Amino acid sequence: MHRNFKNIKKIVIKVGTSTLTNSDGSLNETLIKSLVAQICDLKNRGFEVILVSSGAVGAGMGLLGLDKKPSNINEKQALAAVGQVALMHLYERIFWAHSKNIAQLLLTRGDFGDRKRYLSVRNVCLKLLSLGIVPIINENDPVVADEIKVGDNDTLSALVAGLVDADLLIILSDIDGLYDKNPNTNLDAKLINTVEEIDENIEKMADGDGGKFGTGGMTTKISAAKMANKIGTNLIIANGKMPNVLFKILNKEKIGTLFLANQKKLSSRKYWLAYGATQKGEIVVDDGAIKALAQGKSLLSVGILDVISEFERGDMINVKSRDGKVVAKGISNYSSSEISLIKGHKSDEIEQILGHKSDNDVIHADNLASKDQN
Ligand code: GLU
Repeated sequence: MHRNFKNIKKIVIKVGTSTLTNSDGSLNETLIKSLVAQICDLKNRGFEVILVSSGAVGAGMGLLGLDKKPSNINEKQALAAVGQVALMHLYERIFWAHSKNIAQLLLTRGDFGDRKRYLSVRNVCLKLLSLGIVPIINENDPVVADEIKVGDNDTLSALVAGLVDADLLIILSDIDGLYDKNPNTNLDAKLINTVEEIDENIEKMADGDGGKFGTGGMTTKISAAKMANKIGTNLIIANGKMPNVLFKILNKEKIGTLFLANQKKLSSRKYWLAYGATQKGEIVVDDGAIKALAQGKSLLSVGILDVISEFERGDMINVKSRDGKVVAKGISNYSSSEISLIKGHKSDEIEQILGHKSDNDVIHADNLASKDQN
């Protein structure tokens, strides 16, 4: 039986460090050659491919003879700077052997957070694809410290899938897919073939370990799947070491775990609001407001309970529930000090309280992405 997903044209392929490197940290040239050959073949068949490649830190460790990832940030960044060159050099050599050009894009959280930079990266990616070039993306590790990083390439690949509106995101890892239990400790663990909806049960099956050289584990993959599915991208987690893995996937063979794209696709602007934009402040809202937000309605002052941190009018803010969970993100029409005065009040009282009224809503529905809204 074959898989039944919609027609695929644009594919983002994410390859993890554990797939790209040998056990001593050196780059696994044989495997990379095989992946590149498959990618070039897909391109010759008319697919558009973007590669999100990890492996810089791992390759840096291999080159400098380290067998433990350093905990010092600068040292890790230095390794990424060393390893990225080796990685791209290898990719270039192999892609050239197939007469294909590559391009390197090193991105940071800030490139996704700023709408202008976001759109610029998107246009460059689309341009490269139209020129038949394979964009190869990694996080620009040397220029960002931990707290402002995307942090792992599973999440980065889901952001990229949203950026270019991909039909399919393939995450190649050292595991065959999602198991119902940890397969390392449970002999009877079963591989899950298809996930139609990511619920709490599925999230519980994830295990957080990223291995010696890599970063993400199953947890980041599931959260990447959640993101990708929302923007209408199918996601498959498969074993990067399986021979002809990409051919098999595109042949719709049932390998790995397929997370089916949501039927109702979030608009690309809402996706950016939810996952790309960087937030500056936080407010807390009541249950009534949370319900309204989940139905795609605007946020009104009456449902706001508290302001947690300061922000200006026009800033992107997190909307939290009483128990501290982020329930939505959006662009605020009022500053934090204004909201402190109008919270709990009806919209028609705003003018009297502030002496002016910029808007009826604190966050308009168009500028708001709710966690539960599809
Ligand atoms: N950017 C990191 C690297 O190139 C990889 C992060 C990850 O594997 O998720 O080593």
